Amino acid sequence: MSDPTTEDPTTTPMDPTSANPTDPSAATAAGASDPIHPVEPADGPVEGEAAPAVEVDVETDVPDRTFRDGEQILLIDRKKRRYLVTLEAGGEFHTHAGFVPHASIIGSPEGALLRSTRGATFTAFRPTLSDFVLKMPRGAQVIYPKDLGPILLLADIFPGARVLESGVGSGALSMTLLRAGAHVTGYEIRADFAARAVKNVTAFGGDELAEHYDVQVRDVYEGIGLRHLDRIVLDLPEPWQVVPHAEEALRPGGIMVAYTPAITQAVQLRERLVHSGFELAETIEVLHRGWNIDGLSVRPDHRMVAHTGFLTHARLLPTPA
Ligand code: SAH
Repeated sequence: MSDPTTEDPTTTPMDPTSANPTDPSAATAAGASDPIHPVEPADGPVEGEAAPAVEVDVETDVPDRTFRDGEQILLIDRKKRRYLVTLEAGGEFHTHAGFVPHASIIGSPEGALLRSTRGATFTAFRPTLSDFVLKMPRGAQVIYPKDLGPILLLADIFPGARVLESGVGSGALSMTLLRAGAHVTGYEIRADFAARAVKNVTAFGGDELAEHYDVQVRDVYEGIGLRHLDRIVLDLPEPWQVVPHAEEALRPGGIMVAYTPAITQAVQLRERLVHSGFELAETIEVLHRGWNIDGLSVRPDHRMVAHTGFLTHARLLPTPA
């Protein structure tokens, strides 16, 4: 993700209201003389006045985060193998070394150490989004966490953003967008994948996460039929076919991001974007290398996921009058 053009501190920010501490003009434009310690806005609390009523007391209003009946948890054994388990009162998690009754997990805090009937130990956690994506049942191949994070920022996903996603596949990207607060309409050509995606999203985040998720079985190459979208995020074989539809469906300034496993797909998309209303097109790939840090052995891991896909993004200009 290191693009020298975006990391150059001498570059003037495109948006003068962005609070870039290295650019004093940006701070002035934002109405704050000190970007690190901004003054309270005019309608904020004023010294000497009573503070507004506090609604949540972080000391006493501690939510109950112990494991509940019905939720999915991750059990990690001593060899760091991971198992996704759905808790059920009366259920049992069976291994070659006996079993762990679910009743001993329900009501425990995250991180609890559990012992099976024959002495094997497991640590229990709620799966993170990354854990869930790697463990959940798949219809289509998912986008991996290393690309999911960057997609959120390249597409600049924000709470309430109106997003079209196509195709939805197994729903890994959908749950990432929804988790960031987007309202997602998904177009998926295969009914079985569409159903699987809704199931996975609900399994991860419950009805609360699925509330802003509307999956339709349809072919996005034939058109989008929506207007004023903020973002379009694509993971399908021929994203260039979507460009003319995206020009109609996105609002000016809207962003399109496409994930493509092959560089030839990225090139074909970029060629199509040249003859379109989109600007600022860029293509990147994300390299993610783990390190082994163990006493004197401090070195990059021998293995890494060398390739997943390319991320191409562009912004729509207003249509000329
Ligand atoms: N991003 C998804 C995986 C998508 S796999 C995830 O993270 O889980 C690609 C999906 O695109 C497949 O499910 C495929 O059925 C769907 N697809 C392919 N062509 C399509 C089209 N023209 N319209 C809608 N969906 C399409």
